[in-house]
Amino acid sequence: MADSRGRVAFVGGVGRTGSTLIELALGQLPEACPLGEVRHMWERSLVEDQRCGCGRAFSGCPFWTEVGQRAFGGWNRIDVQKVLELKDSVDKTRHVPRLLAGVRPDPFDARVREYTDLYEKIYAAAREISGRPLIIDSSKHISMAAALSRAPRVDLRVVHVVRHPLGVAHSWSKVKARPEITSHEAFMPQYTPTQVSLQWDAHQALFELLRMRSHSPQLKVRYEDFVAEPARALREIAEFLGARPADAWVDEPASRTVTLDVQHTVAGNPLRFTQGPVEVRPDEGWRTGMQSRSKATVVALTLPMAPLYGYSGTRTRSARSAQSARPSAPPSAQPSDQPSDQQGDS
Ligand SMILES: [Zn+2]
Repeated sequence: MADSRGRVAFVGGVGRTGSTLIELALGQLPEACPLGEVRHMWERSLVEDQRCGCGRAFSGCPFWTEVGQRAFGGWNRIDVQKVLELKDSVDKTRHVPRLLAGVRPDPFDARVREYTDLYEKIYAAAREISGRPLIIDSSKHISMAAALSRAPRVDLRVVHVVRHPLGVAHSWSKVKARPEITSHEAFMPQYTPTQVSLQWDAHQALFELLRMRSHSPQLKVRYEDFVAEPARALREIAEFLGARPADAWVDEPASRTVTLDVQHTVAGNPLRFTQGPVEVRPDEGWRTGMQSRSKATVVALTLPMAPLYGYSGTRTRSARSAQSARPSAPPSAQPSDQPSDQQGDS
């Protein structure tokens, strides 16, 4: 029987792992439609009217206006406060064990269904308008991945991006501007090494739980492997997603350049406003730019989980020897699903 579910690639993991660049690079896939961090759109797009990746304010973006029209009869039909309450009652890290415990006919299950129905409608509309069957949602959060793994009309494939915890902690210690906010000067939050380490541990553990408990295939992608051989890593992700790779990744396997096009991405890293060729370079600023005490804190607190991904102290094992960097579940997904609402390539 043909699979009528729509394919959704969920790019997940802790923030500052390079997942935005991976998501945007996947925009080169002929059949992909990257949407950004969709779970944040309720506050950031509908309330604050932050900029879309195309540079326009959300309310002025024709793509998202059309998505709202097709999905809900217009965004003004959405009661944002109600959605945020629903989100809070379902899409939080503390709910993950319950989300992965199986579907039961209870009020929680009804809320999960109501919540995921919103995304199913958004994805279906984006698919129709773009003519591209493969939605890419880089919402990152494990609770959103866990909720979507229960959505009946979503064929979820999880790309779990992992980075050395020292690199993640160093990145979160830096001051970064938020160009998507135009009404005033705004910056991203900063977190301490301890906060980042605990988040890092929790996220990896919960993604492992998702892999074991759900039927959604999951591929681990290490940041270090991606920046070492971008074309190779992107080809592997394309294969996992059941998508034809971009020609450039096949024709120029040693290239370190990915080309970023204009994409209608909501929320997420400021990198999404970048267009044109971008050279992928390893960022190992943490080696020299981080205090020894901070490094020791991160190494100690991530000790239970880090070795699973080939990270030992300040070292990173090569991809060849880090078995866990390979697919953790066989890519059972086949490129056979063709959503009934799909249109021809635009
Ligand atoms: Zn746009």
